[in-house]
Amino acid sequence: MSTSKYPDAAERTKTLEHRGNAKRKRILIVEDNQIGLKLLSQLLRVHGYETLDTTKGLEAISLARDYRPDLILMDIRLPDISGLEVTRLLKQDHQTKCIPIIAVTAFAMLGDEAKALESGCDAYIAKPVIIANLLRTVDSFLSPLPPIGSAVMPSGEVEPGSAGSPSLSPSQ
Ligand code: MN
Repeated sequence: MSTSKYPDAAERTKTLEHRGNAKRKRILIVEDNQIGLKLLSQLLRVHGYETLDTTKGLEAISLARDYRPDLILMDIRLPDISGLEVTRLLKQDHQTKCIPIIAVTAFAMLGDEAKALESGCDAYIAKPVIIANLLRTVDSFLSPLPPIGSAVMPSGEVEPGSAGSPSLSPSQ
């Protein structure tokens, strides 16, 4: 028998492989604070997403074109160009205009959210980022892989009440 001496560990590995084989959603993180960038990236990777990142607004545009992320987290205050301007450019480009953009900014001043939405951002998160908040917002745009052990819905069947609700998790 070739079973592992550590069946739990083997099971865990198999599960991780399974999750790894499913197509991961890719998130581009644009954040000029290196520590903040690293934390966001680690958090999203642990949560099952693939990440790309940059500290520069202009680089975000070429990364978005080249790698077609499924979502962009956009810091607004960047050293080279405003995240709002980057968003406008991305939303004018037919190659990138469909990518949802979540604005992230410390300037939680009145009118900021409106400005972000005017520039084409699809959602807005204020800093300091509350993790549960961030994940819920990200998950509302991208369905993460189903939790381990959950049943797959037969195709064509829609879970009642799941369509288009802006979604707080049902456990709340
Ligand atoms: Mn910044």
